[in-house]
Amino acid sequence: MALYIVATPIGNLKDISLRALEVLKEVDLILCEDTRTTGKLLDRYQIKTSVLSYHQHSKFQKIDYIMDLLKQGKNLALVSDAGTPGISDPGNKLIESAIQQDDKITITSIPGPSAAAAVASISGFPMDKFLFLGFPPVKNKRKKFFEEIIDSKYPVIFYESPYRIIKTLSELSNCLNRKIVVCRELTKKFETVYRGKVSEVMQRIEKDVVKGEFVVVIEGKK
Ligand code: SAM
Repeated sequence: MALYIVATPIGNLKDISLRALEVLKEVDLILCEDTRTTGKLLDRYQIKTSVLSYHQHSKFQKIDYIMDLLKQGKNLALVSDAGTPGISDPGNKLIESAIQQDDKITITSIPGPSAAAAVASISGFPMDKFLFLGFPPVKNKRKKFFEEIIDSKYPVIFYESPYRIIKTLSELSNCLNRKIVVCRELTKKFETVYRGKVSEVMQRIEKDVVKGEFVVVIEGKK
């Protein structure tokens, strides 16, 4: 009765650990957000383990079903579409249930890629301390989100979608003039790293094709 929390690539399918592959091969079932996305990874490594969809909006009945499997002694792996489960991704609710239900269920991390760690590692900012804010709120609490960035003396990392990156950078450029690193499509064919002041970076991204996945880090307040 083990639940493995397995990190998977954020783009380049070669970015997976030997241990992750071993676990995905050996468990009884893989819980994943999107069976097609995870299917591509499993096909690539000829892993035949069955998959079951589990995501943020999964009903309590599904969590109960998964808990029953664990109590029956099954070993399960949880993956997300990309990166590390639990980091702006499903996982926490399931882990919390497993902890509450039965202390014999072991929860094991199989660490690996995360867009947040990747951007931190190449930012060039002092990253011994940083603030991670996930996705900016779309409506409520958006002002507070920007205030947290402005006030932070540590670099701030956040995720953003291609549909909102320009809007978010534009709002940021109205309230601060710090250095920023914006990474698009890390580890993928169209990987691009933009560095500069917020407004400069925004203008460069606007000139390019605004497509793909974005992760951002802003230097802390001096
Ligand atoms: N759990 C994942 C992790 O550990 O990186 C993050 C999941 S979150 C739902 C997805 C967001 O992560 C994307 O919208 C984007 O902001 C960021 N992201 C994921 N892959 C990325 C990549 N290859 N390049 C840049 N950002 C990425």
